[in-house]
Amino acid sequence: MSVILNKCNEYDIVRLEKIFEEAFAELGGIENYISQGTKVLLKANLLMKSDPDSAVVTNPVFVAALTRVVERAGGVVTVADSPGGFYSEKILKNLYTACGYNLIPEMCGAKLNYDASFKKEVYKIGDEVFPFTFITPFFENDIVISVAKLKTHGFTTYTGAVKNLFGLVPGTYKAEYHMRFPDVNVFSDMLVRLCSAAKPTLSFIDGIVGMEGAGPSGGTPRKVGVVIASDNPHHADMVASKIIGLKPEQVPTLGSAINMGICPCSTDEIEIKGNIEEFVINDYKQAIGGMGSMLNNPLLKKASNYIAPRPVFIGSKCVKCGECVRCCPADAITIGKKKPNIDKKKCIRCFCCQELCPKKAVDIKRISFYLG
Ligand code: SF4
Ligand code: SF4
Repeated sequence: MSVILNKCNEYDIVRLEKIFEEAFAELGGIENYISQGTKVLLKANLLMKSDPDSAVVTNPVFVAALTRVVERAGGVVTVADSPGGFYSEKILKNLYTACGYNLIPEMCGAKLNYDASFKKEVYKIGDEVFPFTFITPFFENDIVISVAKLKTHGFTTYTGAVKNLFGLVPGTYKAEYHMRFPDVNVFSDMLVRLCSAAKPTLSFIDGIVGMEGAGPSGGTPRKVGVVIASDNPHHADMVASKIIGLKPEQVPTLGSAINMGICPCSTDEIEIKGNIEEFVINDYKQAIGGMGSMLNNPLLKKASNYIAPRPVFIGSKCVKCGECVRCCPADAITIGKKKPNIDKKKCIRCFCCQELCPKKAVDIKRISFYLG
């Protein structure tokens, strides 16, 4: 079995433990993945300081329940992520507290990572080699499990099992990747290669409450009621994106994986336990900035410089904290008198400013008259 779907409407740790136990059984038995002493990195989505109820981060109860199941099989769990922006022990501490992750060690035996070091390695993927810089816990654990959140995304349309692994790249290094790969399809090729380098053994997607609209941080929580488990991150994403009403061609990471021949073109070719149609939400609100579908349409692609979505700052919400300035890989933002200003010639439309604004003061708008 490749993808397991389970209905779950609340963050109940006991119910979730049962779901994870059943998922492992369907995936061939937990003993095939974890034995006594296996060091397991749970790569959660901890994008930014955020209350778990706002659906920006993987819910801490979801992570704790999975940890309990892994521990019973003998696994030793570390929970880690690198949020956007600076990456330090202090930032991680504040992040865990804001996201409720400080409570995880009270619910299970998981260790939270406070080590902000990282290392560069070269990975052979197919016939080519690619260097990636990853946070230290990635190298110190035997296996990685992607524990993602089901969300829309202003740049990559959707974020789930594969995009979640971008958090293995330490904070400010993410900006470097955005600068090197400003086109969403090329960026997605990079994400798929990064996923091949990270080789997640399993993927779990927290879709109990997902995010719709202006994801990955400015959207609205939406009850989806699903827990997705898979031994293939692309299959997990193919199923999850269908559930929120997206076609594979609208999700650039799926497009990249399909082009690379490592993902089928449709869920029809994926072995699924559970009725996917039972979970599909046809009116799920998508992120305005999602460009996957636009760039796959030749006519719209030609016009993309003119109709491409852009970040727009909302003065009434902005508190001038400067987070957008710090995270902008293109150095395109300056703080003005009333709100931040963007140098439109420099902006590469990565939407990191929208992603990391703590006040939801950055909107993504399609500006039809924009001439750059
Ligand atoms: S737009 Fe957001 S991140 Fe930027 S200064 Fe204002 S509140 Fe801070
Ligand atoms: S202004 Fe925003 S969208 Fe433009 S490059 Fe900077 S962070 Fe990315």
